[in-house]
Amino acid sequence: MSFAEIIGQEDAKNLLKNAVKSGNHSHAYIFSGEKGSGKMMLAEAFATMLQCENPTDDDACHECHSCKQALSRNNPDIIYVKREDDKSNIGVDVVRERIVNDVEIKPYSNKYKIYIVDEAEKMNQQAQNAILKTIEEPPEYAVIILLTANHNAFLQTILSRCVLIQMKSIDTNSIKKILQTKYETVDYQAEMVASFAQGNVGKAIALVSDSNFNDVKNMVLSLCKKANRMDEQQMAEEVKAIKEENERDKKENSEVEKFQGFMDQMLDLITLWFKDVLLYKATLNDELLLFKENTFDIKEQASSCSYHGLNEIINAISDTRARLNANVNFELTIMLLIQAIKENTR
Ligand SMILES: [Zn+2]
Repeated sequence: MSFAEIIGQEDAKNLLKNAVKSGNHSHAYIFSGEKGSGKMMLAEAFATMLQCENPTDDDACHECHSCKQALSRNNPDIIYVKREDDKSNIGVDVVRERIVNDVEIKPYSNKYKIYIVDEAEKMNQQAQNAILKTIEEPPEYAVIILLTANHNAFLQTILSRCVLIQMKSIDTNSIKKILQTKYETVDYQAEMVASFAQGNVGKAIALVSDSNFNDVKNMVLSLCKKANRMDEQQMAEEVKAIKEENERDKKENSEVEKFQGFMDQMLDLITLWFKDVLLYKATLNDELLLFKENTFDIKEQASSCSYHGLNEIINAISDTRARLNANVNFELTIMLLIQAIKENTR
């Protein structure tokens, strides 16, 4: 992994590159950001450059022995520590064995010994106390990088001794460009997905690589367009279909599912649809729409729906989220949502 491959995160990249160049790096870092924000890529680029035998001003050389080992994740002095699959947290035993005791042994063939701890917030209190000793008095060659989605879960004593780097969200246009160039996503799809991912590159990539997302999108489009013509029978069938899809989604564990479950995706997409309708109604500008391939339907709804009605739908979506969180009966909750869309899109 190289710094050049990482999109955005300029401040973080500069800080880390300068740390390597000056030889003034810290012994402990926290990289904080949601899943998909690129923490692991950044940690690997930093570790590779630190270990590189001939780094340039800007990056590792990617040609020396150490770099080659790092690129194939076989560098004996870059150690990955993560939660075991069957455990909900990272226990003190793992931290002692993989880090606290291991760090006493000198690097095998590199300048440093670098530990990259994934989901580090999952270290329980005992584990955090164990790693704290290493962070307080590290051997000269040790660098510890804690990756986390929530740095507030760390003990204050850990936070105060680490350099905190917070991942930034990436602007929609840059994500759109990545999807178009690297993933050959068609224009309108790239724009929709980029907005939907809200600055999270990893999520955007998972979305375009996942066929389920398209199914969810089609389901939502059909519901938003046809709700006003549905009779009782069709509404009941729609509720049933959504329930089945939700249950199927819970069993499978797709890439996208790691970011967001079916119902969240669905409700976000319905929100985006009606925001498009509202936006067109207010501006009469179809350039701004996300669902560009559905411009015709959006224009039609924009002219037939009132502002009040569209607002009612947006409110109904947030009621739906609240009811799902409160475990209100699933079928009832979905029926109320469809009813709200039907009544306000006449
Ligand atoms: Zn190198």
